[in-house]
Amino acid sequence: MATGIVEEFLALKAETDADLLTMQCGDFYEFFAEDAETVGEELDLKVSQKSSHGSSYPMAGVPIDDLTPYVRALVDRGYRVAVADQYETDDGHAREITRIVTPGTFLETTDAEAQYLATIVRGDGPSTDGRTGGRGDGKAADAGDGRGDRDDPDGPFGLAFVDVTTGRFRVTTAADAAELRAELYRHDPAEIVPGPAVREDDALLEGIREAVETTLSLHTSEAFAPGRARRTVRDQFGEGALEGVGLESDLPIRAAGAALAYVADTGAGVLASITRLRTDGDADRVALDATTQRNLELTETIRGTSDGSLFETVDHTVTSAGGRLLREWITRPHRDAAELRRRHDAVEALAGAALARDELRDVLEGAYDLERLAARATSGSAGPRQLLSVRDTLAVLPRLAEAVDGTPLADSPFATVLETLDREAASELRSELADALADDPPSSAGQGVIARGYDAEVDELIERHEAANEWLDGLADREKRRHDLSHVTVDRNKTDGYYIQVGKSAADGVPDAYREIKTLKNSKRFVTEELREREREILRIEEAREEREAELFGELRERVAARSGLLQSVGRTLAEIDVLCSLAEHAAANDWTRPTIAEPGTLDIEAGRHPVVERTTDFVPNDLRLDEDRGFLIVTGPNMSGKSTYMRQAALITLLAQIGSFVPARSARIGLVDGIYTRVGALDELAQGRSTFMVEMQELSNILHSATEESLVILDEVGRGTATYDGISIAWAATEYLHNRVRARTLFATHYHELTTLADHLPRVENVHVAVDDGGTDADADAGDVTFLWTVREGPTDRSYGVHVADIAGVPDPVVDRAGEVLDRLREEKAIEARGGEGGASGGSGGGTTQAVFDLSAGSFADEPDAGSGAPDTDASSDADRPVASDGRGDHDRTADRGSDHALDPDIEAVIAELTDVDVTETPPLELATRVQEWQQRVDDEK
Ligand code: ADP
Repeated sequence: MATGIVEEFLALKAETDADLLTMQCGDFYEFFAEDAETVGEELDLKVSQKSSHGSSYPMAGVPIDDLTPYVRALVDRGYRVAVADQYETDDGHAREITRIVTPGTFLETTDAEAQYLATIVRGDGPSTDGRTGGRGDGKAADAGDGRGDRDDPDGPFGLAFVDVTTGRFRVTTAADAAELRAELYRHDPAEIVPGPAVREDDALLEGIREAVETTLSLHTSEAFAPGRARRTVRDQFGEGALEGVGLESDLPIRAAGAALAYVADTGAGVLASITRLRTDGDADRVALDATTQRNLELTETIRGTSDGSLFETVDHTVTSAGGRLLREWITRPHRDAAELRRRHDAVEALAGAALARDELRDVLEGAYDLERLAARATSGSAGPRQLLSVRDTLAVLPRLAEAVDGTPLADSPFATVLETLDREAASELRSELADALADDPPSSAGQGVIARGYDAEVDELIERHEAANEWLDGLADREKRRHDLSHVTVDRNKTDGYYIQVGKSAADGVPDAYREIKTLKNSKRFVTEELREREREILRIEEAREEREAELFGELRERVAARSGLLQSVGRTLAEIDVLCSLAEHAAANDWTRPTIAEPGTLDIEAGRHPVVERTTDFVPNDLRLDEDRGFLIVTGPNMSGKSTYMRQAALITLLAQIGSFVPARSARIGLVDGIYTRVGALDELAQGRSTFMVEMQELSNILHSATEESLVILDEVGRGTATYDGISIAWAATEYLHNRVRARTLFATHYHELTTLADHLPRVENVHVAVDDGGTDADADAGDVTFLWTVREGPTDRSYGVHVADIAGVPDPVVDRAGEVLDRLREEKAIEARGGEGGASGGSGGGTTQAVFDLSAGSFADEPDAGSGAPDTDASSDADRPVASDGRGDHDRTADRGSDHALDPDIEAVIAELTDVDVTETPPLELATRVQEWQQRVDDEK
């Protein structure tokens, strides 16, 4: 054993890889040396000095009972804290580390949200490991369109998520880094333990850190080894568990085994509450990548606030478990029509039964978080009050049934949700707890915890205890009477034990049997032999009660822990009832309607609204129709006219329908989607100093690779991060690709008016525009004349509002006028023609129509015969014909000799030749983007 207390501390610290150690020393937990300084700074704790063997060390301590909040504060700041407890030995006491509290294994959280610990394992390459729980819908299959052979050195990954506070355990796989980030963003883990191949990959770790704010912790590589992990999982869930849930591939099993091993090693003691291995893969879920979750502001806004998110808007849950479940539903929508109809049925029933619903919610308010209580019982950290909470929550079940009885809900589909509750088992456990527990127990196990009538031994002790106390209570009066004394009280304290206190004036008249033990200012304290005898008896009773009641409580807690499966399932059902009531509440209060699940490919919304924006604005509803023949809408309209809102509204209505909610619309027919993909103006990335164009292209690339015919794609401006012609070309090609190959339902808002001509060539493309009332004025009209109508109409806008914006922005009149002329001319020229059409889907080159090409030779469409007459010939005009609201980039690819006809630099001609040769539909977007950047660079170099 170490020689001094600080040495002992330092020796223990050397044993652990935790960031901080706290060591029990009697009634305190102490931090020493550097740890004391860290804690002192972080938590504003007083740091004193402790000398030990001639050296002096900083020391900071907290009383034993106060440790939890301090550890919580440290863990919240991302520290992993080892706790060493003191125990008795034959020759004094010793200490050992009993727990390592980490952000992902902290049990006593006060945060209502789920607290996930994640493990990540990486496979050796894209094809070495089958995907388990994957979408299984051929998403990655190569349909000869080049989408399946994505070069992906990153994946696949196996992932396990465990919430020790509720015992939830989920295993899944991610095909690539983007899917990995989506899973992480969705679960928002407090702590991540990366496997061996992941922890060495700085770029990947960087990507993970960008997706979530988390603590990265290391764990032994052995825990991730396939054989070891498989054993761990089997030990936990039983022999057949893996096969039972179809888990065969190594990756998720390695992640699962490592997660279990990590939890075990931290000593959290909750493994027994992790009873269910969930692998609900993504086959029945809607794919939502991290970007989309963020863009649609599902759980937080782009600005990072929860206020204004979809979750915050529709959340009327009254329990924390309900809030957690609603969040889960929103971030993992369903594709299973039967499950969704079940939820819609229940919401419909609840929405139409206001009184019964209010009653249900009132009753639910009395429910505590059963999943968390189960974990506390299992880990042995539940005290008497936690078990009382279990009792009281189980008592909610019959009251829920009563709230429904005799109401329209009784025969409604909602009743089936109630029926899933195992009320008999719950009632048994409830009465057991009611019989055993005293009504107002102390916070920790011991005397006063057990109710009367539960245990004969305790009953007898209580009776004797009460008799003894009664005797004491009457003692002062009896002594007064018997010895004719005044000012007599009987009390007890730590140092004196029980005593009789007599006022100074009467103290001389006490009988001889009184033995004085203390003189105070105005009184004296005495004891008698009889009192001492009673005192000894009371102490004996108290000790016996303490021991017996703690023993009984321990047994009771074990019996509760043994029912943790029941508690978890009841807890989940209560949470589900809470969520269904919440959805019904919102639907009823905001006039939402039940969506109809329609054939795939349909999205037919009548008078739809944006679920969040409608809360704060006088919202103008809009229709939206997408189907087999009309799968791609190009949305045009001026800035701020409501294009984004209209498109997000479509995505959110679809998403709401697919979590089981009603939707903000007069009517909605929705074909279920397998994924929602979005790409919107990347403000936040701009702020982070990342190239917007690169990010934009990565997002576009991900969509083009991942979306399927059953997906919904929202594109809010594509190509604005680069020069106008690049941008149009990319947007144009992406449209053709989405329309011809992917065939996803798409809404595409664009500034490039040129794109509206695509509707003439591609059969399923249609134009809509958001109307404004400009009083019939022209592009150069006064800005004040435009009134936003928020109304979406068929057809393209009748002009580009980019020039109008230029006008509003104060660009001089001659420039604006000239820009208008140029624009008209460009439109007449129609230099772009769409490629594809019905015949184009098979690929090949051309399909009879012309490739989308801009002739850069004169920086414009100058190759038409009569270049002199109306072609742009001033620099001013070239500045005004592109969207002014773009981010100011992209001026550099206009050659300086625009409008002139002298010979071009050979290097630039080479670029032009390459550009003309490139096959836009056959080139992967990212490669296209890279090449465009390279061309820009080369053109720039020549200027
Ligand atoms: P855009 O994408 O065309 O620039 P947004 O969709 O961002 O325009 O909308 C701009 C603002 O207009 C939004 O902040 C919103 O408050 C308001 N708005 C959008 N659509 C509607 C609508 N249908 N009814 C009322 N206000 C709307």
